[in-house]
Amino acid sequence: MLDCGEDWLGSVFGIDPDAILVTHGHPDHAFGLKRGAPCPVYATRETWQNLAGFPIKERKLVVPGAAFRVVGLTVRAFSLVHSTRAPAVGYRISRGKESVFYVPDVVCIKERRQALHGCRVYIGDGATIIRSMVRKPGKELIGHVPVRTQLTWCAKEGVPEAIFTHCGTQIVGGDERKLGALIRSLARKRGLAAARIAHDGMEVTVSVRAKSEDRARKRTT
Ligand SMILES: [Zn+2]
Ligand SMILES: [Zn+2]
Repeated sequence: MLDCGEDWLGSVFGIDPDAILVTHGHPDHAFGLKRGAPCPVYATRETWQNLAGFPIKERKLVVPGAAFRVVGLTVRAFSLVHSTRAPAVGYRISRGKESVFYVPDVVCIKERRQALHGCRVYIGDGATIIRSMVRKPGKELIGHVPVRTQLTWCAKEGVPEAIFTHCGTQIVGGDERKLGALIRSLARKRGLAAARIAHDGMEVTVSVRAKSEDRARKRTT
């Protein structure tokens, strides 16, 4: 399981994952662990400081750049610019030669080349599509870059597919078909093969070619 935001408080024991990788200590990424976790939890030293009072028994320390194994997968964390109070990492997750990269909330990936090179899929920050949400209240940048910028990163590093999750009000409150088409066109312009939205509450539609009698039955039920 990647991140465990406050929405999942009370559900995480039912889901019973094998392991949880936490990207940073913001409530929407980690506060589902306020009452503990049914499995080992992986996080950086800074994130463990953010979660100091949580009754998590199996605390695993993640060191950015150092590869580690979790349930048959090889994982490597990369430092991100996003928040000064809750420093974030993205995870490159590999099995054999296949890799995906997941970022939660992001302004930039510090070692973007190493993080994304050779990845099949980039799973990114859907806070905003075009408008930048990057701010500089102090010395450092914080916030979110838009989907458009992340698609450019994918194009530069040769990642053919992107999925945007953890979506902001623009996507959640908007017309998903239109916004999906916008994201696809931004991706196409940059030479990506595919890009899609996976907002909270996403349902996967599986189309089955039903036999005629099944179709008839469906009509009557
Ligand atoms: Zn955050
Ligand atoms: Zn967030």
